[in-house]
Amino acid sequence: MATFGTLSDRLTETFRNLRTKGKLTPADVDGTVREIRRALLDADVALVVVKEFTAKVRERALGDEVNRALNPAQQVVQIVNEELIAILGGQQRRLQFAKNPPTVIMLAGLQGSGKTTFAGKLAKMLEKDGHTPLLVAADLQRPNAVNQLQVVAGQAGAAVYAPQPGNGIGNPVQVARDGVEVARRQQHDVVIIDTAGRLGVDADLMKQAADIRRAVDPDEVLFVIDAMIGQDAVNTAKAFQDGVDFTGVVLSKLDGDARGGAALSVASVTGRPIVFASTGEGLDDLEAFHPDRMASRILD
Ligand code: GDP
Repeated sequence: MATFGTLSDRLTETFRNLRTKGKLTPADVDGTVREIRRALLDADVALVVVKEFTAKVRERALGDEVNRALNPAQQVVQIVNEELIAILGGQQRRLQFAKNPPTVIMLAGLQGSGKTTFAGKLAKMLEKDGHTPLLVAADLQRPNAVNQLQVVAGQAGAAVYAPQPGNGIGNPVQVARDGVEVARRQQHDVVIIDTAGRLGVDADLMKQAADIRRAVDPDEVLFVIDAMIGQDAVNTAKAFQDGVDFTGVVLSKLDGDARGGAALSVASVTGRPIVFASTGEGLDDLEAFHPDRMASRILD
């Protein structure tokens, strides 16, 4: 499977070949589109997304804007860039805050996707910006999850609301509701609710997340997805969109040898914007997601 680096190399090579041409024939365009298609598939972008993307690029590359261009090859590269940015959501999408605090942010995603780590990262980022986040441990499924959130909160220097250990399994919906109430009382202006994930998509998990969503009426539901899950990204994202619905996406583990595919697939298939990119295990490894920068990363 290809990494971002490889995808980028493949496209650079394709465009280098294109640049040796003056006017482009339909055969040149088809050859280029075929190469783009192969490079995207190798980088694990879902087939439906690849098809739609290459059809758009092909249509524009055969159209007037390229025929009339002084440098047709350059124009095709520009079209690919524009379409990549469009698929990734166009403009940067910022976190949405409530008019009346506290802003409630709920996290959803599979177990191991990076939710708890992201909760800590987001808390730290928000604190730097002068917010006073409260982390709420509503993942009562995994024995160690509450403890893990407490550790992460400690590292981030953020407050945490968690059910007391020893009180049985507890009710995550009630914990989430109480957490928001505690935030209101203690004047935290943002609440970040960590929820349970399973290793695979399952109905109980979805119902629990949907119940929490209904109970706390969040301003943001952020779906955290591991950028390395490749082709599975589409099905997982769709299942969470149908089951819980989310307002934005967090791509985690975009460091190292993360495949580019998940970013393109999830944004395209769900139509939801990617809000953050998580790029490491450290609490400072979090960036706002910029579609144009990601497109450059893929193309440069
Ligand atoms: P959760 O089950 O969804 O809460 O996932 P965790 O936050 O526990 O993360 C699962 C594993 O992935 C942990 O070992 C984290 O250290 C690691 N992890 C989380 N985010 C990132 C990231 O952005 N990059 C890397 N390389 N590892 C990450």
